[in-house]
This record gives sequence, C-alpha cells and structure tokens, in this order.
Amino acid sequence: MAASFIDKARITVQAGNGGNGVVAFHREKYVAAGGPDGGDGGRGGSIILVVDDNMSTLMDFRYKRKYTAGNGGDGQGKRKSGKDGEDLVIRVPRGTLVRDAETNEIIKDMSGQEPFTLCRGGRGGWGNMHFATPTRQVPRFAKAGLPGESHDVILELKLLADVGLIGFPNVGKSTLLSVVSKAQPKIANYHFTTLYPNLGVVWVDEGVSFVMADIPGIIEGASGGAGLGHDFLRHIDRCRLLIHVVDVSGSEGRDSVADFDAINEELRQYSPELSERPQIVAANKVDIMEEPENLERLRAHVKAKGFTLLEISAAAHQGTRQLVGRAAEMLSVLPPVTVYEPEYVPKPPAADSSAPLDIRRSDDGTWLVDGPWLQRLMGNVNFADYESRMWFDKTLRESGLFQRLEEMGIQDGDTVSMYDWEFEYQR
Ligand code: GDP
Ligand code: MG
Repeated sequence: MAASFIDKARITVQAGNGGNGVVAFHREKYVAAGGPDGGDGGRGGSIILVVDDNMSTLMDFRYKRKYTAGNGGDGQGKRKSGKDGEDLVIRVPRGTLVRDAETNEIIKDMSGQEPFTLCRGGRGGWGNMHFATPTRQVPRFAKAGLPGESHDVILELKLLADVGLIGFPNVGKSTLLSVVSKAQPKIANYHFTTLYPNLGVVWVDEGVSFVMADIPGIIEGASGGAGLGHDFLRHIDRCRLLIHVVDVSGSEGRDSVADFDAINEELRQYSPELSERPQIVAANKVDIMEEPENLERLRAHVKAKGFTLLEISAAAHQGTRQLVGRAAEMLSVLPPVTVYEPEYVPKPPAADSSAPLDIRRSDDGTWLVDGPWLQRLMGNVNFADYESRMWFDKTLRESGLFQRLEEMGIQDGDTVSMYDWEFEYQR
C-alpha cells in the first residue's frame, strides 16, 4: 500500500536582517544647526522552535521548505528606532532532533519545554545620533543593519515514549493502545492502518503512568530499507521498553515463533543496541485462538531467550491490566528516556576576506570601513564573548585591513568605525 509518513524533513531557516540606521539632524525654527538625531534600525526577527504536543509528524514541513522571520525596520529622524522584525515561531512535534544539514550533527533535541532560538535576527544599524562626540559633532554617516543568521537544517523525529509497541501489521498493536490509554488510533483489519505514530498516556496507578507509542507495523526487510517500516524503527530508538505483540490465534495462518524471530532480526539489523532493549512479549488474540499449541511453542521459545510472555486479548480487554502493570514495574528500574546532547558547534561562516573592503574618511577623520564579507562576519560575532572577539580580530588582521589603514596614514588614537562597532586604533 502506498503510504508516506513524514518523519524527516530538510528546511532552510532565515532570521530577519537588522534595519538600517539613518542620518538626520534635529531641526527647529531659529535653531541653526541641530545635533544628529538619526535613529537606529530595528533588530531582525529570530527563528524560534517550540514543541507542540498536538503534532506527531513532520508532515507540515513537506510543502513548506523555507522559513523567514521579519526584517527590522529602518530608523527615522527624531531619534526614532525602526521597528523590530517579527520572530517566526516554528512548531515541531516533541522529540524532534534538529541537525545541521551539512554535517548531520545534532544542534538541538526538542524534547523539553523551553523554546529554542535556532537563528538570531541581525542587529540593527546605528543611526548617526550614536556617533556624536565632542570632536565629531556632525556625523554624516549611519550604519547598515547586520544580516540575520540562516541555516539549512534537517528535522528528524524520534518520538519520546517509554514503551514502544512492535510487531507485524494486524497483530493488534493499535487495539492494545486504545484499550490501555485514551489514544484513539485507527484500527482496521488490514495491514498498515497506522501511518503515523500514535502516543497515549497509560495510567497504571495513582502517580504511576507512562507514555506508550504505537508505530506502524514493521515489515520484513524494513531494516534494509525495503519497506515502509524502516522509517518507523527510528521512533523506537528512544523507548526504554518494547512490548512485542504477537498474534497467536493462527487466524491469519501465521507462525508465531517465526514472526517473533523475524521482528527481532529486523531490530538487530537496524541497531544491535535496540535489539538488546528489554521486551515483554504480549501473546495477543487468545480469545480466538484455534490451536493452543502455537502459543505453547512461542512460550517455550521466548522463555529460552529470557523474555517474559503474557497472554492477552486486547479486543476483549483480557490480561491488559496485568500487562501494563508489568511494564510499569520494569520501567521503574530502567534508565530514563535518552535526551541527546548537542554536537554541533557553530562555525563562523567562511568569509572570503580577500575581497577588498571599502575604506572612507568622514569629515571629522573617522575611518569608515564597509564591505559585504565584513557585514556577514559582524553578524556572527558576539562581542560579549572573548573567543569570538579574538577570532574577529584575527580575521581582520589576516585580511590585510590594518596594513591598508597604515598605508593610508592612520594614526594611533584615530577612530575606526564598522557597522555597529567602533574602536580606537592602536598599533
Ligand atoms: P495493528 O496493525 O497491529 O495495529 O492491529 P490493529 O490493532 O489495527 O488490529 C488488527 C485487527 O485485529 C483488527 O480487526 C482488530 O479488531 C483485531 N484484533 C486486535 N486485537 C484482537 C484480539 O485480542 N482479539 C481479536 N479477536 N481480534 C483482535
Ligand atoms: Mg495499527
């Protein structure tokens, strides 16, 4: 059956650019030369991710690939700042991993409650009101806003659930989830009815509950990428416990032992670690069991492997309380759900610093330095951070900027001004 389940998506996010600062002078009747009063540009909007528990797939990201936050507005006269750009909030299902598209490194595991700023908006440029000093009373320049950060990322959903249901299609996984929780997964007597994962909270006792996930049926060859199931295996990566549902009724002419082994083999091929995860075997559909011999063979087989087997009828609500009780018991001594640590370390964009910068002198002798790569570079420097500043300094030095300034006659103590940053030159 043709089906697609979107649990991976590649998107481009772009934070807003900062608005430009402006040059303006205070004007009043009878006042000859007013002071500079050009306002600053507004900050660009940021890209912010939040978890939305009503989402369980990345479907929404299939059609929309590019996400852009608002740009900051330009400054105005009378010291008026430009408006800040609007943040763009992107909702993702809980358990979404955000990866760098180039290196595949994890930037963030969206498992917690707090919003995450994926890209910061660019700072606004300063208006000329900032540049008035005792020796520079008529600054006829203002600064352009800095570009917002942008990033190509891969979103990958790895559900956050304590218990994952595994087993062939049609064995009764969705039925079980609907019986032990308030989740209402689709149940039908044909294969692959579950096309996206369903999560349900199972209340066991006062103060005891866990999250159970029903994922679409694993099919043979799934781990080799042969079928639908492959994509779904990643959803149980994080489960602390697996409930392996096996149909022992013989109603579909299936061999329970062969089914059980086939699923475990799929797990092993996908991830040896996952195949070591604790399992409870739920022998389902005992209400319509034709040959108890099928069940007994499975029981012996499972026991030999050291797993627990419980008989249930999900449809008849038989044995389901015992099953979830046992699951809760096992969970109480298992380690918590894995939350992935970030691996990605933001790298400065490769600035081609060989392109010559534009150097001008303003009326008052300030050295104004401009250029596209410098603008990009400054958008990525955090001046509050020592390392970041050192790296900035090194890049400027290597670009030959200081040497050119020397050649043009810069003196110690002169002011150098670049975008929203000024410093006093010292050799
Ligand atoms: P899944 O594909 O593993 O999610 O299976 P479903 O939960 O969708 O169930 C497949 C079919 O088996 C449906 O027709 C269910 O009504 C039926 N079914 C599930 N559990 C039982 C059971 O314990 N007894 C009987 N007789 N039928 C069941
Ligand atoms: Mg199902």
